[in-house]
Order: sequence, then C-alpha cells, then structure tokens
Amino acid sequence: MTISILDRAGQANELSLGLLHDQAGYVEDERLPCRANNPELWFAESPSDVEFAKALCTDCPVRALCLDGALERREPWGVWGGQLFLQGAVIPRKRPRGRPRKDEAAA
Ligand code: SF4
Repeated sequence: MTISILDRAGQANELSLGLLHDQAGYVEDERLPCRANNPELWFAESPSDVEFAKALCTDCPVRALCLDGALERREPWGVWGGQLFLQGAVIPRKRPRGRPRKDEAAA
C-alpha cells in the first residue's frame, strides 16, 4: 500500500518519531530517500554530503511530517525534512571543519 501525500491538515496526532515511522511504513522503502540511500548521508560530516541529503529529501512523500516532527522534537543533529538541524534549530548549511578562512571572517 502506498500514500502519495501526507499533508499537514490531516495530522491530529503528536509528531513523534513513532508517528513518522508509522507513516513511512505505508511508503515503499525505495520512495524514502533516507532508506533507499546510505543513511549516513543524513548525518554526514562533509558539507557536500549534507547538501546532497537535503536535496534527496525534496521528493520524499513524508517530508512535511518529517520536518514538523524534527522541529517539535528540536532534533539535535542531522538532516530532517530537507533541513539541517543543529542543537534543535535549522541552520542554513554545515560549515566545514577547521578555522574559518580569512576571507569568510571579513564578509
Ligand atoms: S524527509 Fe525525512 S523521511 Fe524523508 S528522506 Fe528526508 S529525512 Fe528521510
């Protein structure tokens, strides 16, 4: 059985990981990018891998539910619903390891 769209209006339940897991259970694994690809991408150290994971989330049929739940749970880390979380907040992009470049500090 598949579901095509899980909209926000139909959500009356708590946005728990259990609910996301239950809803994702109705979708074939190959339609869930974080199941069809290496799940390590969603918690990658490399900024380019993180951006790739965010892009893969774009077509996920449970993306809205995933993002809402991650916001509510204040996920500490990882890509959820196409957004990168760090310490419970969405951040625009992952910074590479090491000291900032001199030209970044001046910007
Ligand atoms: S939106 Fe959530 S469930 Fe879908 S691929 Fe991204 S992390 Fe996985």
